[in-house]
Amino acid sequence: MTGGGGTVGQLNVIRTVDGVRAAIAGWRRAGETVALIPTMGYLHEGHLALVDHGRRLCQRTVASLFVNPIQFGPTEDLDRYPRDEAGDRNKLQAAGCDLLYAPTVAEMYPPGFATGISVTGVSGGLCGAARPQMFGGVATVVTKLLLQTLPDVAVFGEKDYQQVLVIRRFVRDLDIPVRIEGAPTVREADGLALSSRNSYLTAAERGQAPVLFQTLTEAVGRLQEGGEVGPVLAEARARILAAGFSKLDYLELRDAETLEPLERTDRPGRLLVAAWLGRARLIDNVAVPEGKAQ
Ligand code: AMP
Repeated sequence: MTGGGGTVGQLNVIRTVDGVRAAIAGWRRAGETVALIPTMGYLHEGHLALVDHGRRLCQRTVASLFVNPIQFGPTEDLDRYPRDEAGDRNKLQAAGCDLLYAPTVAEMYPPGFATGISVTGVSGGLCGAARPQMFGGVATVVTKLLLQTLPDVAVFGEKDYQQVLVIRRFVRDLDIPVRIEGAPTVREADGLALSSRNSYLTAAERGQAPVLFQTLTEAVGRLQEGGEVGPVLAEARARILAAGFSKLDYLELRDAETLEPLERTDRPGRLLVAAWLGRARLIDNVAVPEGKAQ
């Protein structure tokens, strides 16, 4: 056990900036490298794959658990976001994680906190348009987590594809000395991307949800065969709405690096979607290799 706060035999939990710095400094003195895996908890196999990814790259892994209030809009799901810290702790321990950093809101944003990181460019459109507060909140908290823990590597999931690009952007722009790793999306057997928010789905909605990924993969197939982007996307949008989703925030083909809109598949692209099913806003994305579409 390193530092106070944990129980013998259980993964150590640290809740303060000073505490996490001290624990990591001990590893540093021993010459060990460190990977950070930021999460909002209610962990599933997707999060644990990020821990695994970190463990392959570094000797020590730290997972953070922080439901970041400043990235939620006033009408969003901050209050009902699912939480299970005890379960998360057990899962992280079983996955071989070395430390859980779970700061309180007051520790992260003490009275008088007045600073924000804002990112333009890749933050625009897609989730940035549908959730205007999100990427500023994410950039601010991830900057703080990186400065609090000073890891060699930080691992993020490609399920939140735009988020990975936003993080790469400000890390480069602010000269933060950390390697950002993207890890592939972990899915259920029927293709649904694992998400803490899948817990909002009723049994009937859970049955409908895989249509999102099925539609994306079929659309990519049609683009690869030479289908025109506009009609292929229009049909995909219609199929998702016909399957029981109430609203699409977006379904768009974007450049895989810059997220600029793509009219044709003459460069590597990404097909990204956000859609509402019952109380859940589900997002997903797939790679679109260069194809024949004109
Ligand atoms: P969250 O707790 O939802 O904020 O996610 C924490 C991290 O886990 C983010 O980097 C996400 O992109 C990643 N993540 C969430 N779901 C998945 C998944 N199904 N596969 C891979 N990574 C994921």
